[in-house]
Amino acid sequence: MKTLFRGGRVVDPANGIDGRADVLIDDGTIARVGRDVPAGDARVIEVPAGFVLCPGFIDMHVHLREPGQEHKETVATGVAAAVAGGFTAVACMPNTSPINDNAGVTEFILGKAAEADLARVYPIGAVSVGSNGAQLAEIGELREAGCVAVSDDGRPIATALLMRRALEYTGMFGMPVIDHCEDPTLKADGVAHEGYHASALGLRGIPAVAEALMVERDVTLAELTGAPVHIAHMSVRGSLRAVRAGKARGARVTCEVTPHHFVLTDEALAGYDTNYKMNPPLREAADRDAMIEGIADGSVDAIATDHAPHHYDEKHVEFDVAPFGIVGLETAVPLALDRLVHAGHIGLSRLVELMSVNPARILGVPGGSLAPGAPADLTILALDHPVVVDVATFRSRSRNTPFNGWTLRGAVAVTIVGGRAKYVNPVVTGLDALKGRPSAVVREP
Ligand SMILES: [Zn+2]
Repeated sequence: MKTLFRGGRVVDPANGIDGRADVLIDDGTIARVGRDVPAGDARVIEVPAGFVLCPGFIDMHVHLREPGQEHKETVATGVAAAVAGGFTAVACMPNTSPINDNAGVTEFILGKAAEADLARVYPIGAVSVGSNGAQLAEIGELREAGCVAVSDDGRPIATALLMRRALEYTGMFGMPVIDHCEDPTLKADGVAHEGYHASALGLRGIPAVAEALMVERDVTLAELTGAPVHIAHMSVRGSLRAVRAGKARGARVTCEVTPHHFVLTDEALAGYDTNYKMNPPLREAADRDAMIEGIADGSVDAIATDHAPHHYDEKHVEFDVAPFGIVGLETAVPLALDRLVHAGHIGLSRLVELMSVNPARILGVPGGSLAPGAPADLTILALDHPVVVDVATFRSRSRNTPFNGWTLRGAVAVTIVGGRAKYVNPVVTGLDALKGRPSAVVREP
């Protein structure tokens, strides 16, 4: 089965393409990209102006909650949210219950993902057994079972020694260690960014240096071992400074920033709304601005959501005791288009690097390119289409977002995985030929 997307704008920075081109898909892979590709026996989809075809977006930091917390999210509802958000693949963190520190859990997640058959799922294994920071997990076994990275996310990698040993081990495979950087003694029982707003509101602070200090440690250990380190959800300018300095010295360090950290600041805490409580916390304006600067100048490698579903009842408690985290899969692309692209900070080509090319490269997974032979994973954007965020339409099982009701410019139109349309935005018109061909439907629980 061949399909030809004809006449759209194609943004494929890995192959130096940004302009009008046709994309021919043959049996799940990219066959050809270029001008005036002959249709032959292919089904032709005319792409109207305003739509942009990109290599599929990859969210390298999500929490799918299964096994163990299926009331928050399951693999099936998580990947349904992913494709609705424009993501053709996600990498899921190991802090499930049980923790993904052995091949059995990895295989369970991959089995659920195959059953759901929507976005691709790349499990991330634990660095330490039970993520308790003491003993290295069987990293070779995890890799064999399909893990693409290791992390103790939710927690920092507890000691410099454990980090060093993990890097010495993963460095042999070139597999990254992803670290949630936060010095636990400095973070203590903080709940909000240490600064003016936390003081004014009487909230215990988490200082910026709690993050930056551990980023410095990890960059230094990446340099020592020559192994790749990826800094999760970077949020403060001290961390950015450490990453930039490490890169300049040739350390194999990469980093990601979440949409909430390039959009929001701690000023939003005034109403004590727990949908603004996340870890790392929303930072001050100078940090938010530094993240945008790093995104624009290339110091930041990826945009990742840290999609962290929580049940309504868990979040609707006092600020102090509410769990950290927000959902992000279904708002990330409109936020990035509105606040980064339309705001003039970056072009589309840079956005595709941040959301597709670099996540694929860092994790060593397919994608990030529309070269012939690549999997036909595409994210099609409706560049100017208005989006009103409405949690009632979310595919995720959870609704904990501070962006409900926001109006943003730029929507996901279609998400194609392995040549099949896994999501077609019902409110975007222009690619209606793809509607009514749902190739997979998520069962309701
Ligand atoms: Zn984390």
